[in-house]
Amino acid sequence: MVNDDISWINTHLKDRAFEDQSVLVTGGAGFLGSWMCEVLVAQNAKVICLDNLASGREENITHLKNNENFSFLRHDISQPVVLDTKVDYILHMASRASPLEFEQFPIQIMKANTLGTWIALGIAKKNKARLLFTSTSEIYGESQIIPTPETYHGNVNTLGIRGCYDEAKRAGEATCMAYMRQHGVDVRIVRIFNTYGPRMRSDGYYGRVVPRFIMQALRNEPITIFGDGSQTRSFCYVTDQIEGLLRFLAKDDLKGEVINIGNPKELSIMDLAALIKKNIGSTSSLQYFPLPQDDPHRRCPIITKAHDLLNWKPKIELEKGLRKTIRYMTSELR
Ligand code: UDP
Repeated sequence: MVNDDISWINTHLKDRAFEDQSVLVTGGAGFLGSWMCEVLVAQNAKVICLDNLASGREENITHLKNNENFSFLRHDISQPVVLDTKVDYILHMASRASPLEFEQFPIQIMKANTLGTWIALGIAKKNKARLLFTSTSEIYGESQIIPTPETYHGNVNTLGIRGCYDEAKRAGEATCMAYMRQHGVDVRIVRIFNTYGPRMRSDGYYGRVVPRFIMQALRNEPITIFGDGSQTRSFCYVTDQIEGLLRFLAKDDLKGEVINIGNPKELSIMDLAALIKKNIGSTSSLQYFPLPQDDPHRRCPIITKAHDLLNWKPKIELEKGLRKTIRYMTSELR
């Protein structure tokens, strides 16, 4: 199933911009990182996957390890690293991203996005490489403009539990712009909105809402709704997200640009729970818990910039993407 999706992405990315190019993917064993590595290897890029396996999983990349175009470096990007190969492109994707991890690992999250971005930019500067920093819709905080354009400057609580992620990503964006202005590095910043699909973690502290609800529904356990479930998100299937990121990285003349990539179809968490239950045929009840601090009430991107600059828009309907993810999570249950 993942194989079909990888081919699907490469069919939609018509030009082979990364063929024979050397690409460093930090966080390459994570959910999005491992998809990225796999698509790039399929394009005959030379992929260096760097990951400290703190939240990434080795099994996401095991099948790539005997490909001569793939190499794995177990390393924490917040620590200096010397690479022995030339790098043409860098995708700095390393970071824990689940709100459940924000209380547990705030220092590692800060380091990956501040020190880690600094180190990745140093590698970009030395190699004259192009760098894409994966920022987040979280930099908008509790947005007062919905849907949210890239021009919105955000409304973030620096002191709250999400501050470690939101502010570290904001600092990461500012560090990218500093390296562009002072050293001329070709940086691009993508603000990723909620993305889901196979290889997302559903266990323990890692669970984002989609894999958590799917696992709960598959086990007919209560579905855990935080708050009253009226808060909204908009969910992008992983293949759409990866296609958008690679279009952005590949295209010339976008130095210093920031682009939202996500799906603009907004729905409530309650509606998401109902959709997942329906597609699984689950008998799960709903169980209510307090809304975590600073959990944004609404989140939805404006994606006209991605459409205009990259000729990109998401193609996978939520229900279709959920069915693929459910199939994957069902296999994880065994
Ligand atoms: N959520 C929920 N139950 C859960 C996990 C998450 O109701 O078991 C809610 C959470 O409060 C938030 C939304 O689902 O409003 C999305 O949460 P997620 O952890 O995926 O990340 P976020 O979009 O908040 O960064």
